[in-house]
Amino acid sequence: MKVLVADAINEKGIEKLEKEMDVVVDTNITPEDLIKTIKEYDGIIIRSRTKVTKEVIQAADNLKIIARAGVGVDNVDLDAATEKGIMVVNSPESTSITVAEHTMGLMLSLARKLSIADKSVKEGKWEKKKFMGVELRNKTLGVIGMGRIGSQVVSRCKAFEMDTIVYDPYLPEEIASQMGVQLTDLNTVLKKADFITIHVPLTSETKHLISTEEFKTMKDNSFIVNCARGGIIDEEALYHALKNEEIGGCALDVYEEEPPKKDSKLFELDNIVLTPHIAASTKEAQRDAAIIVAEEVIRLSKNESPQNILNMPRTDNYKAYMPFLEICKKLGSFISQTLNGNIDELEIVYGGEVGELKNKEILTRNVLQGAMNPYLSENVTTVNAPIIAKERGISVIEGIRNDGKGYDSIIKVAGKNKNHSFSVEGTNLHDPKILKVNDYWVDVKPEGHMFIAKYKDIPGSIGKIGTLLGENDINIGVMQVGRDLNSGEAIMILTLDQSVPKPVIEDLKKLDNIHNAIGLKL
Ligand code: NAD
Repeated sequence: MKVLVADAINEKGIEKLEKEMDVVVDTNITPEDLIKTIKEYDGIIIRSRTKVTKEVIQAADNLKIIARAGVGVDNVDLDAATEKGIMVVNSPESTSITVAEHTMGLMLSLARKLSIADKSVKEGKWEKKKFMGVELRNKTLGVIGMGRIGSQVVSRCKAFEMDTIVYDPYLPEEIASQMGVQLTDLNTVLKKADFITIHVPLTSETKHLISTEEFKTMKDNSFIVNCARGGIIDEEALYHALKNEEIGGCALDVYEEEPPKKDSKLFELDNIVLTPHIAASTKEAQRDAAIIVAEEVIRLSKNESPQNILNMPRTDNYKAYMPFLEICKKLGSFISQTLNGNIDELEIVYGGEVGELKNKEILTRNVLQGAMNPYLSENVTTVNAPIIAKERGISVIEGIRNDGKGYDSIIKVAGKNKNHSFSVEGTNLHDPKILKVNDYWVDVKPEGHMFIAKYKDIPGSIGKIGTLLGENDINIGVMQVGRDLNSGEAIMILTLDQSVPKPVIEDLKKLDNIHNAIGLKL
């Protein structure tokens, strides 16, 4: 095999590769030269500089693997690679410990005022009293998001003899108790924790998860750390909370705008510690990423299967499944967002012609990917989705029915957890379509910002919802209503120009005769 290393990666990875294959290192290669020369290579290793675009992939007549030393793969055209049967791999685990250790560093820095003490000594001062700190021991750690990084922080904080409480509505209780942590709600974390650390992805649900009200709920001597993504903490609200000493302090590695503006008000404050998005930057993380991707390429060269494949190479009958991939993903996403919490069980039933396809596993994988993507940070793929689902305690039931309920094909996805159950059915009619939500027949394109309400089917209910949305400047694009004459209930599905903010959803739920209101993004 011949491999091009197109971005600077740690030499340990290159050494490993060189023992097994021809390696060309050209970390300054231009996009034009890459297109010209890519046909010479069986594999390419990149970090973030090199863009493996559609044009590169089209010219890559011999390429079998694209390996990204790191997590995100925004610089690779995944669809084009899949279409050409080229495997894309990454190194998702390489940064978890590094980010967890940075989080510990920031917690200690806040507890012992390290950064301002350092500055003071360098200014020639000796202000011992000013820098009285607190211990981590016996303090309550509140973790928001108990995934790869959150769980590494927890195990390190155990060594500091801290008690841990966790807010992660997508983690089943059984899995949390196996991890030795207690799950609770966000309010309890905010009220009880002395140190709060955030490890969730940035989604419409987590955008400004911590804002004015949340800071007011936190203890006035508590600390908060964000090494996840900018925008989860509302920085304007943070500034006021720190300035008015509503909380003890904050440490940020990530910002709403990166780099932050030179005149950011946050820079005026003493009770904040700031680092320039370096939580994942250690020699070990870079070395591990390089070694992991080198090993993936070597596995492929020995006809073994790489472990972190992000796409699934095309199978012979891929074309028969293609029309249903997107609707499967959307149905999964719909269910996970309507359940609004962990999924205990997903039942997927294929009806009509789609039920007759030989191996529906690829479709089920797409449902699972769609179901977990809204709340897992990155890279839930059709390859790893079944494994992640199992780790997260989701049981999957697959079935077929012999008719399509009047359509050529229909796919039903039903999900449940301890508090809710929801089902949705859809198909592909040139475009993905939702046909049924619970017991109500509808005809909706699942795309963009959407809103679902269940209400009593009496005059005025629809008007009240429309008025409240209008009062909040939310424009309705498409409206669909499904009625159940027996129960006297109806369901409304709206496609909107923008998302419905959480407080508006809460106000909608309070309206008379409105039984449920859910915002989602498909
Ligand atoms: P992960 O997907 O393994 O875990 C995310 C966890 O958050 C999951 O357990 C999920 O159930 C939970 N979650 C999702 N939505 C939630 C919500 N609304 N409320 C509470 N919990 C919720 O992700 P990870 O690899 O642990 O990464 C965590 C964060 O760290 C991500 O935002 C990632 O982008 C970020 N990150 C930052 C750096 C850096 O350089 N600062 C480096 C790597 C990762």
